[in-house]
Amino acid sequence: MRQPPVAVCRPSAFLLRQIAFCPTCERRRRFAGRDCAWYGPTWTCCGCGDAWTDGERHPRPFRRGWRAEAIAAAKLQWRAAALFARSYHGRWLREQLGERW
Ligand SMILES: [Zn+2]
Repeated sequence: MRQPPVAVCRPSAFLLRQIAFCPTCERRRRFAGRDCAWYGPTWTCCGCGDAWTDGERHPRPFRRGWRAEAIAAAKLQWRAAALFARSYHGRWLREQLGERW
């Protein structure tokens, strides 16, 4: 019997970065952002690894070492975000939503 084709849906993302106040670190920090068309951007602090979407902090994983992993991932994402032109963000979003520009 043939297997049905599998559709893998992976939303495209636009990487962002900004310096902002982190409520966990209680100081200004680098934040790596990941924007997807149907959600608000998720911002991860490069100092503590906490992440927020639409102003809500994500739950912290209940396992050892998550913070170091999240910080390392955020720093990588921060560097990768340098390749995304901020001025292209609005155009990217309109394309994702199917609008012609
Ligand atoms: Zn922080």
